[in-house]
Amino acid sequence: MAATRTFSIIKPDATRRNLTGAVTKMLEDAGLRVVASKRIQMTREQAEGFYEVHKERPFYGELCDFMTSGPVVVQVLEGEDAVKRNRDVMGATNPSDAADGTIRKSFAESIEANSVHGSDSDENAAKEIAFFFTDDEIVG
Ligand code: ATP
Ligand code: MG
Repeated sequence: MAATRTFSIIKPDATRRNLTGAVTKMLEDAGLRVVASKRIQMTREQAEGFYEVHKERPFYGELCDFMTSGPVVVQVLEGEDAVKRNRDVMGATNPSDAADGTIRKSFAESIEANSVHGSDSDENAAKEIAFFFTDDEIVG
């Protein structure tokens, strides 16, 4: 199977606890390669645009507060079946449901402050990558 790409965010709860390297190691150990990476302070506008699909959910405002509460690391990951591979190593949204050995089981603080984001389809991965990266910032 050919390599595909997915989009990842190391969220503010993880950067605050100096876990950027630890999270990235788990991604790499799962067979994903970091082909683009930058540490940014997300603006309110970026957070609201990125999570637009959740606009009607009760947690939307708080989620945007959280995602702008500190630096995040946005990454493009490449590997075989990258979207699924990444979702598998991330674990369930709620850390209390996440399997042992997953990033969220290891590090997440709560259902909101759950350390990582990962695209949920190839189509959304392409959109999310284009939201944060230009083609020349991705070096495979
Ligand atoms: P992500 O999109 O960040 O990879 P996910 O696909 O596992 O996570 P989604 O349902 O897309 O989960 O929710 C997006 C994010 O919104 C979650 O990662 C979490 O930070 C937050 N979130 C989801 N459900 C809740 C909730 N019930 N209360 C508070 N925050 C929530
Ligand atoms: Mg999601």
